[in-house]
Amino acid sequence: MAIKNAFTVDVEEWFHICGVESLLDKSKWGSYESRVVQNTTRLLDLLDDHQVKGTFFVLGWIAERYPEMVGDIYDRGHEIGTHGLDHRPVYRLKPERFRKNLRRSLDILEDITGERTEMHRAPSFSIHEKAAWAFDVMADEGIRYDSSIFFGRRDIGGTESPLFFERAVFGIYTPNGLIVEYPITTKSIMGKSVPVTGGGYMRATPKFVLKRLIDSMHEEGLPICLYAHPSDIDPDRLVPEGIGLRKRFNARVGVKTAEKKLRFLLENYEFCPMGEIIDGAEILSFKRLRR
Ligand SMILES: [Zn+2]
Repeated sequence: MAIKNAFTVDVEEWFHICGVESLLDKSKWGSYESRVVQNTTRLLDLLDDHQVKGTFFVLGWIAERYPEMVGDIYDRGHEIGTHGLDHRPVYRLKPERFRKNLRRSLDILEDITGERTEMHRAPSFSIHEKAAWAFDVMADEGIRYDSSIFFGRRDIGGTESPLFFERAVFGIYTPNGLIVEYPITTKSIMGKSVPVTGGGYMRATPKFVLKRLIDSMHEEGLPICLYAHPSDIDPDRLVPEGIGLRKRFNARVGVKTAEKKLRFLLENYEFCPMGEIIDGAEILSFKRLRR
């Protein structure tokens, strides 16, 4: 039987890029050109074409402004999760601020769908060993499933702590209960851990290389956790003014062919919401967090 993979989307704008906050002050977000609705709708149509349901982690800031779009995602049968409130890295927040923001983002989504989601993904994989308290707070606020851990080194987010080294779904016991973690799929390439099946990495990776990587994961019996952003498939993706060359490259690479690439993956592999992967997974590893 073919292995089912998770199709996940982080619903945010082109200007929600961590690490360039000085160029993109939050007070100005409302004045930038918005492209999230048109690009999310294209993603939704693409998934409908292939009769695939996925998990959409919606940023609170976005849900507040575009409730009809969130309603559309929900009505088309996709799973809704929270991507936090305002895209600030979790490790930069104090636990109490994280709790308030998380609760607010859950309230906004619940007002739209009538359901309180139990799923969370942090912006920019920003939960690491120094922000492990976030799991405790999440469990206390009713989160049961998380997909924020990226094992590897990045400018922002990611962790190399052995505490979080897992390639399959694993459990995290917090003093407030269990969180099931579905880590971002990574592949070791030339000694570097790379999240090939998502965002800019996926856009930059040739189709045949992606296929080889996914096939090798499947040979090990592991599903991949694909993640996309609405702006990944925007051929005219906007880039913040004054952004560095490397970040500009990361933002723009492969945007013109990304939709075709996703179509190829949807035609050649099976995808489902994250909850289905977690429900079907045998959890072999558990971590324990202490206060
Ligand atoms: Zn994000």
